[in-house]
Amino acid sequence: MRALILSDIHSNLPAFDAVLADAEGRGGYDVVWFLGDLVGYGADPGPCIARLRELPHVGIAGNHDHAVIGKLNPDLFNGAARAAALWTAQRLADDEREYLIALPEVRWEGSFTHVHGSLRDPVMEYLISEPAALATFALLETPFCLVGHSHYPLVWTEQDGRAEVFLLDTSEPVPLDRRQRVIVNPGSVGQPRDGDWRASYLLYNDEGNGDGTLQHCRVEYDVAAAQKRILDAGLPESLAFRLSDGR
Ligand code: ZN
Repeated sequence: MRALILSDIHSNLPAFDAVLADAEGRGGYDVVWFLGDLVGYGADPGPCIARLRELPHVGIAGNHDHAVIGKLNPDLFNGAARAAALWTAQRLADDEREYLIALPEVRWEGSFTHVHGSLRDPVMEYLISEPAALATFALLETPFCLVGHSHYPLVWTEQDGRAEVFLLDTSEPVPLDRRQRVIVNPGSVGQPRDGDWRASYLLYNDEGNGDGTLQHCRVEYDVAAAQKRILDAGLPESLAFRLSDGR
């Protein structure tokens, strides 16, 4: 079984489509595991929801998904994110809203737990500190955990009561071993923040021996098209400019 692991698409259809084409070119996938924040920031919420629903997939909710359906107060966001959440909320069709409302906060798929933020605060906590990582390891009941939210492609490992973090690179598929629990973030499809503007994602492959492999992938996309869509929509300009900076 091959899973395409995506997070933080954020209404960026050019990035989403580039990732789907790139994954096909790498041998394809049987299912998409989506880790939350399908909407927010970008200009194509409806087409991104439609695209994901066309694919065999399972998904969970992120904080931006909750903000556009009224489960989270957009006033908790910064100005640009709040403006995009309100803009998105006004444009969702009833069935798109219902799709987002039905997304759970946590899922379990085989050896993996899926959550957008962390296991102690599923849509809001950023897993970017050792205490946060240790708290999620303490609650984790499967060997592996997949998260999103920070938009950083990284892996947390756990040893002797300590947690260590490494940035993912795109060199080789990494073998998983259930004796070494890990928390992995695929990075963001639609708004990378690690200084690399290219869309970021993971491919999981459980064929062969052992507990499968994870491959981190980056793909260029038509960032100018995504920026133009944001500017033409009247969304805050900063949301367009940051895409080419990868920040
Ligand atoms: Zn996000």
